[in-house]
Amino acid sequence: MRRVAVVGSTGSIGRNTLEVIAGRPERLSLAGVAVRSRLDLLAEQAARFHPPLICVWDEAQAARYAGLNGGASLLAGREGLIELVTHPSVDLVVFAASGSETLIPLVRAIQAGKRIALASKELLVIAGELIMRLVREQGGSLVPVDSEHAALFQCLQGVPREQITRLIVTGSGGPLWGFSAAEREAATRERVLAHPKWRMGPKITVDSATLMNKGLEVIEARWLFDVPLQRLRVIVHPEAVVHALVEMADGSLIAQMSPCDMRLPIQYALSFPERWPSPVPRLELTTLASLRFMEADPEEVPCLGLALRAAAAGGTACAVLNAANELAVRAYLDGRLALAEIPRVIAETLEQHTVTAHPTLEQVLQAQAWAQARAQEQMAACSTS
Ligand code: MG
Repeated sequence: MRRVAVVGSTGSIGRNTLEVIAGRPERLSLAGVAVRSRLDLLAEQAARFHPPLICVWDEAQAARYAGLNGGASLLAGREGLIELVTHPSVDLVVFAASGSETLIPLVRAIQAGKRIALASKELLVIAGELIMRLVREQGGSLVPVDSEHAALFQCLQGVPREQITRLIVTGSGGPLWGFSAAEREAATRERVLAHPKWRMGPKITVDSATLMNKGLEVIEARWLFDVPLQRLRVIVHPEAVVHALVEMADGSLIAQMSPCDMRLPIQYALSFPERWPSPVPRLELTTLASLRFMEADPEEVPCLGLALRAAAAGGTACAVLNAANELAVRAYLDGRLALAEIPRVIAETLEQHTVTAHPTLEQVLQAQAWAQARAQEQMAACSTS
């Protein structure tokens, strides 16, 4: 029996994770959930899944929730979140909150020897080198939940690393693929948030529209699998059936294929190294008319180019890229920034940053805070100009 805590249980990945756990009561139990702020959905989850530990990491929201927790122990704030992810009653922690604010809890969970299922890609983007070093030092286990990385992880089982020549991450191209620059500019928020293949939270859907998501995924893969940037490639594959491929020394390509259903990578991260039956519909190969694979030109999609540039610069550059992107995307979702301004804010913030190589956790957090302040200034300038 694996006892699982879910950080970000009310988000898209979190909700799917609770379904997967509920579907395997003989193998998995829910030890706890943590949310930032969606208290109505939290109350529903508490009533339906009865987690013994509940954490609301936004202090003000936690005070509002007190009394609604029906029998569960209520933990509050950042310290409460750390208590949850290091708790003796927890074997495995799923990090599923979007954004970078759960970095320190992740570090603490790894140090406490917990198994990790990681969906929060931003954490590997800002501190991947540090996180993976810690996992190795602890002899721990970290399994990716992001579909492309779960695919790579599966393709790489039993493959000696010297036999790998290339890792290929595919992407559907996102909600605006095939649009001209003018059409992108004119796209409504509704259109941007309508992803053709995946139903996900708003932040990652905007990142899919700008292709920043693929850029972040390249950085994520670079650290997860410890491969140099030159061995990673992004390919647009609109059918989103092949989630990633590994090219071997002899030229063979090994691919992972499945329907676009996050329950599959989530379950594998919880069952690894085992595989269990799953309720996900089988892929019917004969219904696939064609599979297309296309080049993604970083010149045409500036956010992808910026991410690759930050990845090449290394060190704190990726934390800066991520912080500027997070703020710019939030401003876009709030209606304060145009979609086309997102890469401008990131580019200008990156340009002003002096990179620190092999940063410590403190240096990562400092770079992040610096970038947040800088990006805010850029956006204030955008809205007044
Ligand atoms: Mg992905």
